[in-house]
Amino acid sequence: MPDPERPAPHLLILGGEDVAAALAAAVAERFGDRLAVTYSLAGRTTPARLPPGRVRSGGCGGAEGLAAFLRAEAVTAVIVATHPFAAAISRNARLACDAAGVPRLCLRRPEWQPQPGDRWLMADTAAEAAAALPGLATRVLLTLGTADLAPFAALPGIAFVVRMIAAPPQPPLPGCTVVTGRGPFDAEAETDLLRRHRIDAVVTKASGGGATDAKLVAARALGLPVVMIRRPPPEPGPAVEDVGAVLEWLDRIGARSDNPPAQES
Ligand code: NAP
Repeated sequence: MPDPERPAPHLLILGGEDVAAALAAAVAERFGDRLAVTYSLAGRTTPARLPPGRVRSGGCGGAEGLAAFLRAEAVTAVIVATHPFAAAISRNARLACDAAGVPRLCLRRPEWQPQPGDRWLMADTAAEAAAALPGLATRVLLTLGTADLAPFAALPGIAFVVRMIAAPPQPPLPGCTVVTGRGPFDAEAETDLLRRHRIDAVVTKASGGGATDAKLVAARALGLPVVMIRRPPPEPGPAVEDVGAVLEWLDRIGARSDNPPAQES
Protein backbone atom coordinates (compact mmCIF):
# COMPACT_ATOMS: atom_id res chain seq x y z
CA MET A 1 0.00 0.00 0.00
CA PRO A 2 1.29 3.51 -0.75
CA ASP A 3 2.28 5.40 2.39
CA PRO A 4 0.30 8.69 2.43
CA GLU A 5 2.91 10.17 4.79
CA ARG A 6 5.75 9.71 2.32
CA PRO A 7 5.97 12.18 -0.61
CA ALA A 8 6.17 10.69 -4.12
CA PRO A 9 9.74 9.93 -5.21
CA HIS A 10 11.25 12.74 -7.27
CA LEU A 11 13.06 12.07 -10.55
CA LEU A 12 15.34 14.65 -12.15
CA ILE A 13 15.88 14.25 -15.91
CA LEU A 14 18.84 16.22 -17.25
CA GLY A 15 17.61 16.75 -20.78
CA GLY A 16 18.15 18.83 -23.86
CA GLU A 17 17.62 16.15 -26.48
CA ASP A 18 14.53 14.78 -28.18
CA VAL A 19 15.13 11.40 -26.56
CA ALA A 20 15.08 13.05 -23.13
CA ALA A 21 11.69 14.63 -23.84
CA ALA A 22 10.44 11.25 -25.07
CA LEU A 23 11.71 9.70 -21.84
CA ALA A 24 9.86 12.28 -19.73
CA ALA A 25 6.64 11.53 -21.61
CA ALA A 26 7.13 7.78 -21.17
CA VAL A 27 7.82 8.21 -17.44
CA ALA A 28 4.65 10.30 -17.03
CA GLU A 29 2.63 7.63 -18.83
CA ARG A 30 4.11 4.76 -16.83
CA PHE A 31 4.21 6.26 -13.32
CA GLY A 32 1.69 9.12 -13.42
CA ASP A 33 1.55 11.09 -10.16
CA ARG A 34 3.28 8.27 -8.26
CA LEU A 35 6.55 9.85 -9.44
CA ALA A 36 7.25 13.60 -9.43
CA VAL A 37 9.44 14.58 -12.38
CA THR A 38 11.56 17.67 -12.98
CA TYR A 39 13.00 18.11 -16.47
CA SER A 40 16.10 20.29 -16.61
CA LEU A 41 17.42 22.15 -19.66
CA ALA A 42 20.60 24.19 -20.16
CA GLY A 43 18.34 26.82 -21.69
CA ARG A 44 20.54 27.73 -24.65
CA THR A 45 18.38 26.31 -27.44
CA THR A 46 14.66 25.96 -27.94
CA PRO A 47 13.64 22.30 -27.77
CA ALA A 48 11.40 20.80 -30.47
CA ARG A 49 8.95 19.82 -27.75
CA LEU A 50 8.70 20.20 -24.03
CA PRO A 51 7.70 17.20 -21.94
CA PRO A 52 4.78 17.16 -19.54
CA GLY A 53 5.43 18.18 -15.94
CA ARG A 54 7.79 20.63 -14.29
CA VAL A 55 10.53 22.10 -16.48
CA ARG A 56 13.45 24.18 -15.21
CA SER A 57 15.89 25.99 -17.45
CA GLY A 58 19.49 27.20 -16.97
CA GLY A 59 22.66 25.94 -15.31
CA CYS A 60 22.58 24.71 -11.72
CA GLY A 61 25.92 26.21 -10.63
CA GLY A 62 28.32 23.34 -11.27
CA ALA A 63 28.48 20.05 -9.38
CA GLU A 64 28.03 21.77 -6.01
CA GLY A 65 24.99 23.70 -7.20
CA LEU A 66 23.48 20.56 -8.61
CA ALA A 67 24.12 18.63 -5.37
CA ALA A 68 22.41 21.45 -3.44
CA PHE A 69 19.45 21.25 -5.85
CA LEU A 70 19.18 17.47 -5.34
CA ARG A 71 19.07 17.91 -1.57
CA ALA A 72 16.75 20.94 -1.55
CA GLU A 73 14.28 19.28 -3.93
CA ALA A 74 14.53 15.85 -2.28
CA VAL A 75 15.45 14.26 -5.64
CA THR A 76 15.51 10.47 -5.34
CA ALA A 77 16.93 9.53 -8.77
CA VAL A 78 18.67 11.27 -11.69
CA ILE A 79 18.65 10.34 -15.38
CA VAL A 80 21.42 11.97 -17.40
CA ALA A 81 19.81 12.14 -20.84
CA THR A 82 22.01 14.89 -22.28
CA HIS A 83 23.86 14.85 -25.60
CA PRO A 84 26.91 12.52 -25.60
CA PHE A 85 29.16 15.56 -26.19
CA ALA A 86 27.77 17.44 -23.17
CA ALA A 87 30.68 16.37 -20.96
CA ALA A 88 30.50 19.04 -18.27
CA ILE A 89 26.93 18.38 -17.16
CA SER A 90 27.55 14.61 -17.21
CA ARG A 91 30.55 15.03 -14.92
CA ASN A 92 28.64 17.43 -12.66
CA ALA A 93 25.82 14.92 -12.42
CA ARG A 94 28.19 12.13 -11.34
CA LEU A 95 29.87 14.29 -8.69
CA ALA A 96 26.58 15.74 -7.42
CA CYS A 97 24.83 12.36 -7.23
CA ASP A 98 27.80 10.84 -5.41
CA ALA A 99 27.85 13.75 -2.96
CA ALA A 100 24.09 13.67 -2.32
CA GLY A 101 23.76 9.86 -2.35
CA VAL A 102 21.28 9.84 -5.21
CA PRO A 103 21.22 6.97 -7.75
CA ARG A 104 22.06 8.03 -11.32
CA LEU A 105 21.59 6.41 -14.72
CA CYS A 106 22.87 7.67 -18.09
CA LEU A 107 20.70 7.36 -21.20
CA ARG A 108 23.21 7.42 -24.04
CA ARG A 109 22.55 7.07 -27.75
CA PRO A 110 24.09 3.94 -29.25
CA GLU A 111 27.39 4.63 -31.06
CA TRP A 112 27.42 4.54 -34.86
CA GLN A 113 29.35 1.60 -36.27
CA PRO A 114 31.19 1.84 -39.62
CA GLN A 115 29.59 -0.18 -42.43
CA PRO A 116 31.21 -1.64 -45.56
CA GLY A 117 31.78 1.24 -48.00
CA ASP A 118 32.19 3.89 -45.30
CA ARG A 119 35.22 6.19 -45.58
CA TRP A 120 35.51 7.57 -42.04
CA LEU A 121 38.47 9.57 -40.79
CA MET A 122 38.42 9.83 -37.01
CA ALA A 123 39.39 13.06 -35.21
CA ASP A 124 39.56 13.88 -31.51
CA THR A 125 38.57 17.52 -31.79
CA ALA A 126 36.98 19.98 -34.22
CA ALA A 127 40.48 21.47 -34.79
CA GLU A 128 41.79 18.02 -35.77
CA ALA A 129 38.80 17.54 -38.10
CA ALA A 130 39.50 20.91 -39.76
CA ALA A 131 43.17 20.01 -40.20
CA ALA A 132 42.13 16.85 -42.10
CA LEU A 133 40.26 18.79 -44.81
CA PRO A 134 42.93 20.53 -46.98
CA GLY A 135 43.70 18.19 -49.88
CA LEU A 136 40.69 16.00 -48.98
CA ALA A 137 37.77 18.21 -50.00
CA THR A 138 36.74 21.59 -51.37
CA ARG A 139 33.00 21.65 -50.51
CA VAL A 140 32.21 20.41 -47.03
CA LEU A 141 29.00 19.87 -45.08
CA LEU A 142 29.46 20.67 -41.38
CA THR A 143 26.87 19.24 -39.00
CA LEU A 144 28.37 20.67 -35.81
CA GLY A 145 27.28 23.14 -33.15
CA THR A 146 28.22 26.82 -33.46
CA ALA A 147 30.75 26.38 -30.65
CA ASP A 148 32.73 23.91 -32.80
CA LEU A 149 33.05 25.98 -35.98
CA ALA A 150 35.98 28.33 -35.22
CA PRO A 151 38.76 26.03 -36.55
CA PHE A 152 37.06 25.88 -39.98
CA ALA A 153 37.31 29.68 -40.43
CA ALA A 154 41.04 29.23 -40.99
CA LEU A 155 40.52 27.20 -44.20
CA PRO A 156 39.96 29.83 -46.90
CA GLY A 157 40.11 27.50 -49.90
CA ILE A 158 37.16 25.37 -48.76
CA ALA A 159 33.46 26.22 -49.18
CA PHE A 160 31.31 25.24 -46.21
CA VAL A 161 27.65 24.36 -45.95
CA VAL A 162 26.67 24.50 -42.27
CA ARG A 163 23.52 22.77 -41.07
CA MET A 164 21.88 24.33 -38.05
CA ILE A 165 18.56 23.89 -36.24
CA ALA A 166 17.64 27.54 -36.82
CA ALA A 167 19.20 30.21 -39.04
CA PRO A 168 21.55 32.42 -36.97
CA PRO A 169 21.46 36.23 -37.28
CA GLN A 170 25.05 36.22 -38.67
CA PRO A 171 26.71 33.53 -40.84
CA PRO A 172 28.56 31.26 -38.41
CA LEU A 173 31.57 31.15 -40.80
CA PRO A 174 32.63 33.81 -43.31
CA GLY A 175 31.08 33.07 -46.73
CA CYS A 176 29.39 29.83 -45.66
CA THR A 177 25.96 28.63 -46.76
CA VAL A 178 23.55 27.86 -43.93
CA VAL A 179 20.91 25.17 -44.30
CA THR A 180 18.41 24.57 -41.52
CA GLY A 181 16.88 21.32 -40.36
CA ARG A 182 16.07 19.29 -37.29
CA GLY A 183 16.28 15.49 -37.21
CA PRO A 184 15.15 12.91 -37.81
CA PHE A 185 16.50 13.07 -41.35
CA ASP A 186 16.02 10.49 -44.10
CA ALA A 187 18.67 9.14 -46.42
CA GLU A 188 16.98 10.25 -49.64
CA ALA A 189 16.76 13.89 -48.54
CA GLU A 190 20.32 13.77 -47.22
CA THR A 191 21.62 12.38 -50.52
CA ASP A 192 19.75 15.15 -52.32
CA LEU A 193 21.30 17.77 -50.00
CA LEU A 194 24.82 16.45 -50.63
CA ARG A 195 24.26 16.39 -54.40
CA ARG A 196 22.59 19.81 -54.57
CA HIS A 197 25.51 21.48 -52.78
CA ARG A 198 28.13 19.35 -54.60
CA ILE A 199 29.51 18.29 -51.22
CA ASP A 200 32.72 16.25 -51.32
CA ALA A 201 33.14 15.58 -47.57
CA VAL A 202 31.04 15.64 -44.40
CA VAL A 203 32.25 16.60 -40.92
CA THR A 204 30.16 15.43 -38.00
CA LYS A 205 30.33 14.55 -34.33
CA ALA A 206 29.94 10.86 -33.46
CA SER A 207 26.62 11.63 -31.80
CA GLY A 208 25.15 8.21 -32.53
CA GLY A 209 21.50 7.16 -32.55
CA GLY A 210 18.96 6.91 -35.33
CA ALA A 211 17.81 10.51 -35.77
CA THR A 212 20.84 11.88 -37.60
CA ASP A 213 22.59 8.86 -39.12
CA ALA A 214 20.98 9.32 -42.57
CA LYS A 215 23.85 11.62 -43.62
CA LEU A 216 26.21 8.67 -43.10
CA VAL A 217 24.05 6.48 -45.34
CA ALA A 218 24.02 9.25 -47.98
CA ALA A 219 27.80 9.79 -47.78
CA ARG A 220 28.34 6.03 -48.13
CA ALA A 221 26.06 5.87 -51.17
CA LEU A 222 27.96 8.74 -52.82
CA GLY A 223 31.40 7.41 -51.78
CA LEU A 224 32.20 10.56 -49.76
CA PRO A 225 34.63 10.74 -46.86
CA VAL A 226 33.22 11.55 -43.41
CA VAL A 227 35.43 13.21 -40.82
CA MET A 228 34.01 11.96 -37.53
CA ILE A 229 34.80 13.68 -34.24
CA ARG A 230 35.03 11.10 -31.47
CA ARG A 231 32.85 11.33 -28.37
CA PRO A 232 34.43 12.46 -25.12
CA PRO A 233 35.01 9.51 -22.77
CA PRO A 234 31.73 8.57 -21.03
CA GLU A 235 31.33 9.15 -17.32
CA PRO A 236 31.66 5.94 -15.28
CA GLY A 237 28.46 4.46 -13.92
CA PRO A 238 25.40 2.60 -15.16
CA ALA A 239 24.23 3.50 -18.68
CA VAL A 240 21.51 2.29 -21.04
CA GLU A 241 20.68 3.07 -24.66
CA ASP A 242 16.89 3.23 -24.77
CA VAL A 243 13.89 4.63 -22.94
CA GLY A 244 12.50 1.17 -22.10
CA ALA A 245 15.68 0.30 -20.19
CA VAL A 246 15.35 3.51 -18.15
CA LEU A 247 11.77 2.58 -17.18
CA GLU A 248 13.00 -0.86 -16.08
CA TRP A 249 15.74 0.76 -13.99
CA LEU A 250 13.20 3.06 -12.34
CA ASP A 251 11.06 0.04 -11.54
CA ARG A 252 14.08 -1.78 -10.12
CA ILE A 253 15.23 1.04 -7.84
CA GLY A 254 11.69 1.63 -6.64
CA ALA A 255 10.48 4.76 -8.38
CA ARG A 256 6.99 4.14 -7.03
CA SER A 257 5.67 5.60 -3.82
CA ASP A 258 4.76 2.14 -2.48
CA ASN A 259 8.36 1.01 -2.96
CA PRO A 260 10.99 3.37 -1.53
CA PRO A 261 14.07 4.04 -3.69
CA ALA A 262 17.33 2.35 -2.85
CA GLN A 263 20.93 2.84 -3.94
CA GLU A 264 22.10 0.64 -6.81
CA SER A 265 24.92 -1.61 -5.82
P1 NAP B 1 27.98 20.96 -21.21
O1 NAP B 1 29.24 21.56 -21.76
O2 NAP B 1 28.06 19.60 -20.66
O3 NAP B 1 27.36 21.90 -20.08
C1 NAP B 1 27.75 23.25 -19.87
C2 NAP B 1 26.95 23.78 -18.72
O4 NAP B 1 25.58 23.96 -19.11
C3 NAP B 1 26.89 22.85 -17.53
O5 NAP B 1 28.03 22.98 -16.72
C4 NAP B 1 25.61 23.29 -16.86
O6 NAP B 1 25.79 24.54 -16.18
C5 NAP B 1 24.72 23.62 -18.03
N1 NAP B 1 23.87 22.51 -18.47
C6 NAP B 1 24.07 21.64 -19.51
N2 NAP B 1 23.03 20.81 -19.64
C7 NAP B 1 22.15 21.13 -18.65
C8 NAP B 1 20.88 20.62 -18.26
N3 NAP B 1 20.29 19.63 -18.93
N4 NAP B 1 20.26 21.20 -17.19
C9 NAP B 1 20.85 22.23 -16.51
N5 NAP B 1 22.05 22.75 -16.86
C10 NAP B 1 22.69 22.21 -17.90
O7 NAP B 1 26.85 21.00 -22.30
P2 NAP B 1 26.83 21.64 -23.78
O8 NAP B 1 27.64 20.80 -24.67
O9 NAP B 1 27.12 23.11 -23.64
O10 NAP B 1 25.30 21.40 -24.13
C11 NAP B 1 24.29 22.17 -23.49
C12 NAP B 1 22.97 21.43 -23.64
O11 NAP B 1 22.69 21.24 -25.04
C13 NAP B 1 22.99 20.03 -23.01
O12 NAP B 1 21.82 19.86 -22.25
C14 NAP B 1 23.06 19.08 -24.18
O13 NAP B 1 22.32 17.90 -23.98
C15 NAP B 1 22.46 19.88 -25.33
N6 NAP B 1 23.11 19.56 -26.62
C16 NAP B 1 24.48 19.55 -26.72
C17 NAP B 1 25.06 19.22 -27.94
C18 NAP B 1 26.56 19.15 -28.08
O14 NAP B 1 27.03 18.81 -29.18
N7 NAP B 1 27.34 19.45 -27.07
C19 NAP B 1 24.26 18.92 -29.04
C20 NAP B 1 22.87 18.94 -28.89
C21 NAP B 1 22.30 19.26 -27.68
P3 NAP B 1 26.11 24.59 -14.61
O15 NAP B 1 27.48 24.07 -14.44
O16 NAP B 1 25.93 26.02 -14.26
O17 NAP B 1 25.09 23.72 -13.92
